[in-house]
Amino acid sequence: MRKDFLPFSKPSVKEEAIAEAADSIRSGWLAMGPKTIKFEEEFAAYTGASFALSANSATAGLHCAAMALELGAGDEVITTPMTFAATVNAVLFTGAKPVFADIDRNTLNIVPENIEKLVTPRTKAVIPVHFAGMPCDMDKIEAIAEKYNLAIIEDSAHALGAAYKGRKIGADRGMRRLSVFSFHPTKNITTGEGGMICTQDEDLAERIQVLRQNGMSKGAWNRYAAKGNSNYDIPFPGLKYTMLDINAAIGRSQLTQVDEFNARRTEIVNVYKRELADVRGIILPKPAPWEHTHSWHIFTPFIDTDALGFSRDEFMARMKTLNIGTALHYQALHLFTCYGAVTGMKRGDLPEAEYVSDRIVSLPLFPAMTDEDVSDVVEAVKKVCK
Ligand SMILES: *Cc1c(COP(=O)(O)O)cnc(C)c1O
Repeated sequence: MRKDFLPFSKPSVKEEAIAEAADSIRSGWLAMGPKTIKFEEEFAAYTGASFALSANSATAGLHCAAMALELGAGDEVITTPMTFAATVNAVLFTGAKPVFADIDRNTLNIVPENIEKLVTPRTKAVIPVHFAGMPCDMDKIEAIAEKYNLAIIEDSAHALGAAYKGRKIGADRGMRRLSVFSFHPTKNITTGEGGMICTQDEDLAERIQVLRQNGMSKGAWNRYAAKGNSNYDIPFPGLKYTMLDINAAIGRSQLTQVDEFNARRTEIVNVYKRELADVRGIILPKPAPWEHTHSWHIFTPFIDTDALGFSRDEFMARMKTLNIGTALHYQALHLFTCYGAVTGMKRGDLPEAEYVSDRIVSLPLFPAMTDEDVSDVVEAVKKVCK
């Protein structure tokens, strides 16, 4: 058994990035400024988006996206129950109502046909989540959005570097579409906390710029620059969701490493898939049939609780005693008190999501894992499943 605890995730930040962050602090320009603008330009270039707008988290980014679309009371938004709470909180804080469509247990993504069944005259938007970095079947989701005139907010928190049929997630795909990324420390790249909203839609991009700084109609950092103008209007109220230059400094460095990070993630996943293929009690994730590049934010097999005779939670506890960290992504959202109450859904209503929710576990996966770390995980899984 390994001596030290292996966390399920850990970021890799270069010394140069730390120096750049320190430079921002020393310069006196700590908040949003030139490095944030550069980071946005570089992110737009990487993803192929016309506009990339930073935020201080993906939660803030999702909320900005929902506000920019003017979602509100009486509106419905269809999304997946297999996501982080932020996806749905962003909807709820506009006054709109989230509606859960069941997932497919193989791809772990929302099923387009299930979305269509739930469309009503009140439906205004759909929020697909590219679970673990596996792109959703976007051709079908786009066709439904077009047919019923729905906006699309892609929750791309897991999907930086992922691609669907050769198109990078975040790349331009028409109007009233937004794609939101996360830079939380467990994600494919980090800024500490941070997020990015990509869109091709200039109107939405402009609204988001205003929404993220208290409704101020002009770049806040511009007002303080020598050439800046101190006059501004407030066309509608916003919140304070801007990224700091301290964080953007780290993000710029991280972005240069994303392909390298994702390549290492994929390498580790391939070892897991090979080594765990025949382990009784482990059900491996299945690839989607459509052409895609996976960004492997997390590796999430199922624990075959029937075969093993103990629960996924017990599996996680036993892994911990072997000094291996694991995580749960996610408990299906309709099973939480809050989202059960707002949607009126309960156990039994979303059987696929519930099957997954009871069995899924995230094994350690981060670029700095050594080959030895990976075999420690494999050994621990085999031991627990014996
Ligand atoms: C991490 C995550 C978020 C929230 O990201 P933050 O940057 O932590 O706000 C939203 N949705 C999904 C699917 C996530 O994994």
